[in-house]
Amino acid sequence: MIPFNKPYMTGRELWYIAQAHTNGHLAGDGMYTNKCRTWLETFTGTKKALLTHSCTAALEMAAILANIQPGDEVIMPSYTFVSTANAFVLRGGVPVFVDIRPDTLNIDETKIEAAITSRTKAIVPVHYAGVGCEMNVILDIAQRHHLMVIEDAAQGIMSTYAGKPLGSIGHLGAYSFHETKNIISGEGGALLINDERFAGRAEIIREKGTNRSQFFRGEVDKYSWVDIGSSYLPGEVISAFLWAQMEEAQSITERRLAAWDSYHMAMAPLEHDGLLRRPIVPSECRHNAHMYYVLLPSLEKRTKLIADLKREGIHSVFHYVPLHSSPAGRLFGRVGSSMAVTDDISDRLLRLPLWVGLNTEIPKRVADIIAKQ
Ligand SMILES: *Cc1c(COP(=O)(O)O)cnc(C)c1O
Repeated sequence: MIPFNKPYMTGRELWYIAQAHTNGHLAGDGMYTNKCRTWLETFTGTKKALLTHSCTAALEMAAILANIQPGDEVIMPSYTFVSTANAFVLRGGVPVFVDIRPDTLNIDETKIEAAITSRTKAIVPVHYAGVGCEMNVILDIAQRHHLMVIEDAAQGIMSTYAGKPLGSIGHLGAYSFHETKNIISGEGGALLINDERFAGRAEIIREKGTNRSQFFRGEVDKYSWVDIGSSYLPGEVISAFLWAQMEEAQSITERRLAAWDSYHMAMAPLEHDGLLRRPIVPSECRHNAHMYYVLLPSLEKRTKLIADLKREGIHSVFHYVPLHSSPAGRLFGRVGSSMAVTDDISDRLLRLPLWVGLNTEIPKRVADIIAKQ
């Protein structure tokens, strides 16, 4: 069976983990956490990066930093992972779901303004498949309405929008290093802080609400409980693993892009014949080949194709149940626009196997199977 995802390991992970073991520092913020943090800050040009144990944790930190109070509204797409919304619901916030664009499947920036009310506090663009949202328009709306922009860039490491790394464009950005993402540590994530005003408090929230980080830098003479927070930092063993991945981030991305390009070529004639639609990447976006998906004509065609591919030993999967139609989304959130595109594409989207080392014959085999349907 060709799996949908196969975590890629560079070969140096175990060596760095052994080093962490030898160093005898196993809690967070040791040598490897710092190496990864510095890499992220350098690579994204962000003011400060903080490693977390997941993207979910980074989004929860962002919700605290945005000072979300019960009843405050946060605008986001419905076609996303639960953590985008759940992080704000934990603070009493209300997700307000806005439809997505039919081309990139990212939040439709032209529908955001109509969803803004006096309770709106933030916009959370999600860069689906590592392709950037229309950030210039979103930043402009946010500025005019005094809203925060928190990028869910879980899928977006190594991608850019107008030359800027995803996650480094809004006030805050969140990355995921979950094993299904491009750069991995099993579970893992990072909060990118682009607006310096949030840097001090972010450190405190990550360290259980204490000023422990300042204490270790010698900025205060004792550390104590100063704010709300939780334990959001990863241990050194996770960071050691992640460091091996960061060293190879460029080549991992190039190899994923090669697989993505093979799919894109193999699918071109099928798109021409009206059998499917391929992903669309706007010219201002450089993507990271996080995902290759196709949009099929109907739910029935998708169901049949999943079965046909499975019979041929290829594992393909659909994606999100839109949050506005999920039980918790209905309970805690509301819709802020029509959901026509979200409802339509969620039934027709199919994700194909894409990982480092995928045999380049696979995209052609998939194309043949679709053509025979
Ligand atoms: C994977 C993902 C998350 C969650 O990441 P974790 O690191 O598993 O917490 C959040 N949002 C989006 C869009 C994702 O794809």
